Amino acid sequence: MKLSFSSISSYQNCPLSYKFAYLDKLPRKRSPQLSFGSSIHAALAHLYNVSLPKPPPLEDVLNHLEKVWERDGYQDETEEKLYLEDAKRILTNFYHTNVGDFRVPVALEQKFKVKMDGYTLAGIIDRMDKLPGEGYEIIDYKTSRRLPPKSRVDEDLQLSIYHLAAQEVWGIEPEKLTLYFIIPNQKMSTSRTKKDIERIKVLIQETIEDIQSQKFEARENPLCPWCDFQAHCPLYKHKFLKEAPPEEKETTDTQIEEVVNEYVGLKSQSRQINERLDELQVIIHDYCESHGLSRLYSDKGIISRSQRVIASYNMEKLRDILEPLGLWEKTLKVDAKSLKEILESDVLEEEVKRMIETTKEVEEITYALYVREIQKEP
Ligand code: SF4
Repeated sequence: MKLSFSSISSYQNCPLSYKFAYLDKLPRKRSPQLSFGSSIHAALAHLYNVSLPKPPPLEDVLNHLEKVWERDGYQDETEEKLYLEDAKRILTNFYHTNVGDFRVPVALEQKFKVKMDGYTLAGIIDRMDKLPGEGYEIIDYKTSRRLPPKSRVDEDLQLSIYHLAAQEVWGIEPEKLTLYFIIPNQKMSTSRTKKDIERIKVLIQETIEDIQSQKFEARENPLCPWCDFQAHCPLYKHKFLKEAPPEEKETTDTQIEEVVNEYVGLKSQSRQINERLDELQVIIHDYCESHGLSRLYSDKGIISRSQRVIASYNMEKLRDILEPLGLWEKTLKVDAKSLKEILESDVLEEEVKRMIETTKEVEEITYALYVREIQKEP
């Protein structure tokens, strides 16, 4: 089995979307974000694709961006132009920030395929730098607009996989793993221990076992609104059936829509009714309490109010009674039901049973209302 960060994370987010994408290979839409991201990646690869520690001029990088610019996914030319201008601005910022300590990377757009225990792990590492000293830094570019919390970077699956790949491909332990958020121009770095990598291996093995056992449930997650497979997903498919032209709809589609509408309407009414019932109960309890009443009458019916006492035995006192009788151990091992059985049996004298009852302590008193409707004479 061949796995990559994308396929593993797809399975983690939603097993069904993994199946649609990687097993059924259903077509996906190209989004502006994807085209934008891969164009920026290509321009950055050009910037670092040099053999001397001297970066190409900024103009050259921006020209290259235009050459490799991916046009798919944009609504129209205006939107595409906005994205292109943004990409140029972002690359210019990046260039000025990084040109000062520019160095030639030891790996660039490095594809890897690592044979692990029963599976192959594949991917592409954007960049690896040699740090001053002996260490290495793996860098992955991100084109998301927001920074994640640091804790998420510390657990980032992609970085863990790249660490694992660096061990297998180059036999090195990367000192630093970095996500470079190009848009806010911010690096977030972390590292992995041997234990972290062992955990990731276990997670990958578990994912493989789940895939092999055909566990492909639909798992609702924050990415659902952008999922390409909604029309095939049991959680969203109905929306698409509903939107089909009337001639393509089965009669049952219209009927079920009415059923759903009625159900939603009744549920909403029942919520309002329950809220009102709660308010009325408070008024009735307060009235009964302040007037010392247990029953109220109206021309529609009668409401009886009865008390419920929830009590439990005081274990200390119970022990004082049962231990001298040699019954404490037995009682301890048993639950309230068994204690009740002892109390109802002939094992104990009446006097002891009465003493046990006195150890009961009230935990809570509640009141319930029972309604009897008055039937009108026909
Ligand atoms: S819409 Fe959500 S639940 Fe359905 S397949 Fe896509 S990601 Fe999974």
